[in-house]
Amino acid sequence: TDVQELLLSRIRDVADYPEPGVMFKDITPLLADPAAFTVLTDSLAQVAERTGATKVVGLEARGFILGAPVAVRAGLGFIPVRKAGKLPGATLSQAYDLEYGSAEIEVHAEDLGAEDRILVVDDVLATGGTAEASIQLIRRAGAEVAGLAVLMELGFLGGRDRLAPALAGAPLEAL
Ligand code: IMP
Repeated sequence: TDVQELLLSRIRDVADYPEPGVMFKDITPLLADPAAFTVLTDSLAQVAERTGATKVVGLEARGFILGAPVAVRAGLGFIPVRKAGKLPGATLSQAYDLEYGSAEIEVHAEDLGAEDRILVVDDVLATGGTAEASIQLIRRAGAEVAGLAVLMELGFLGGRDRLAPALAGAPLEAL
């Protein structure tokens, strides 16, 4: 579609970043273009509305840049899922494996409850490890997962298949 062409045209491929052999998808040109950023925000907000989400969770750090305007646009609250050690209040944490080593993400426990249906927003879905951990965190907090919405899915990394059990039928929308 025209929207997809506009969005794709504003994503820059950076070879060998952050390490040799990786083709990094850089979304900063898209953020700098007001027309493209608006289309992106509106498209993700439509997903929020379609899925009946009551709140938006953004994944640090680019999920904050996208998730916050989506929440405002859709009239919903925004909840940050952060890397361990950054949130000042009582948190729930979830560890997950990386290619080398592991990582941990956290959310303020009081931000999520049984009444919430959460749309998770991030820029790029790669292996799905980060999204999977965030879904586990949301469920452990007692909230429901309305879906996962990303700008771009790197299909060859298999994130969609990996996430299927965690999503349990909730939609995964990659623009
Ligand atoms: P995953 O956990 O392997 O799915 O990696 C997804 C996380 O890494 C997301 O939070 C992305 O922001 C980030 N990421 C992975 N690859 C890229 C990329 O090519 N461009 C931008 N972010 C990426």
